[in-house]
Amino acid sequence: MKEREIPYKIYLEENEMPTKWYNVRADMKNKPAPLLNPATLEPMTAKELGVVFCDELVAQELNETDAYIDIPTEIRDFYKMYRPSPLVRAYCLEKKLDTPAKIYYKFEGNNTSGSHKLNSAIAQAYYAKQQGLKGVTTETGAGQWGTALSMACSYFDLDCKVYMVKVSYEQKPFRREVMRTYGASVTPSPSMTTEVGKKILSDHPGTGGSLGCAISEAVEVATKTEGYRYVLGSVLNQVLLHQSVIGLEAKAALDKYGIEPDVIIGCAGGGSNLGGLISPFMGEKLRGEKDYQFIAVEPASCPSFTRGKYAYDFCDTGMVCPLAKMYTLGSGFIPSPNHAGGLRYHGMSSTLSQLYDDGLMEARSVEQTSVFEAAEQFARVEGILPAPESSHAIRVTLDEALKCKETGEEKTIVFGLTGTGYFDMVAYEKFHNGEMVDYVPTDADLAQGFAGLPKVQ
Ligand SMILES: *Cc1c(COP(=O)(O)O)cnc(C)c1O
Repeated sequence: MKEREIPYKIYLEENEMPTKWYNVRADMKNKPAPLLNPATLEPMTAKELGVVFCDELVAQELNETDAYIDIPTEIRDFYKMYRPSPLVRAYCLEKKLDTPAKIYYKFEGNNTSGSHKLNSAIAQAYYAKQQGLKGVTTETGAGQWGTALSMACSYFDLDCKVYMVKVSYEQKPFRREVMRTYGASVTPSPSMTTEVGKKILSDHPGTGGSLGCAISEAVEVATKTEGYRYVLGSVLNQVLLHQSVIGLEAKAALDKYGIEPDVIIGCAGGGSNLGGLISPFMGEKLRGEKDYQFIAVEPASCPSFTRGKYAYDFCDTGMVCPLAKMYTLGSGFIPSPNHAGGLRYHGMSSTLSQLYDDGLMEARSVEQTSVFEAAEQFARVEGILPAPESSHAIRVTLDEALKCKETGEEKTIVFGLTGTGYFDMVAYEKFHNGEMVDYVPTDADLAQGFAGLPKVQ
């Protein structure tokens, strides 16, 4: 096909959208390690998980045999309001970089929550409603997940209680108000509304909170309130499953024009967008049909893949959640307060951790000023103001495209543009004022987090 016959934006028709999610675990020889009960160190049973999560989501969490799982019609109808999302050929960026590389990005920022998180929020809210629940609880850091979940809950008329990391609650009032617009109640965490919150506050008075604290509070409220369950926006297998809609659509769009990517790049916080984007391609690699280079990009200030340990760890600070085997910096690790670019969770999806440990994907860490440089370069030519998280993937895409310029290779690169950055302008402001600093934890800093790892084989 002649180059220019590929449009700037490749859209699928509504009837070309996926009707099933793809579960990459079905094709993995080495399955991700199971969640463990922190008291007995035995794998969590469906019954035990059912105290915290909705039944159908527990089934998805534990399902490592079915490669395809139907997307219920109600969820597909909601998806149709903002999907299929475009796969964009970054012609302008290529021209600006003067690279022979061909760059595509899958843009997930075209909905009010501004990120891919809505893909799983709507699924989780649907299953909660199906089970006849009254509501759900969750945590949110900067607020993207809380925003997505509050939209999903209002659609299905469910109550939504969000524990928001206190510093963000105070510094990011706009996201908080979007959540309240959609009817969610938002509590700054740690709070006096939970036992674990009270304990954290008495141990660390004046703390600004962390995602790990907020998770503990949200789980406590869910398990103690009749008709409520807890939902999580990343890390879990079920979330990667829902996010596979990104990769399935991207693959269908590429296939439509006979395009074969060489490199697939995504940012990694808890791993949900990256896992979702690469899943169908990884499936081909696992089945020996094709080969691709996959690159996870994380902040140098929170380097779970590149400097973490592959070990069982707590998912939260209060240690109320099951243990997960993952690349982790330890549940006590808190990134530098100067870190502005998101992706600050201490652990990583156990599915991606296993794939990484098996050498099936790579990881790179990047410093935040270089991330914002890349964000700005991208915004100026492609017209979209990217989220700082997404800009980690942009950074490595630029690096790869510039390498192609040196070698003359015409690689095809696909990256995940997970969202827009309009609520992150304080971080952009710091960058423009030259006040942004790079912080890379020392080995001694990391050793403190590792010291808190539970002693599990
Ligand atoms: C939450 C978020 C991420 C990181 O989460 P993952 O689970 O690793 O995908 C990336 N980009 C945006 C815009 C986000 O909101």
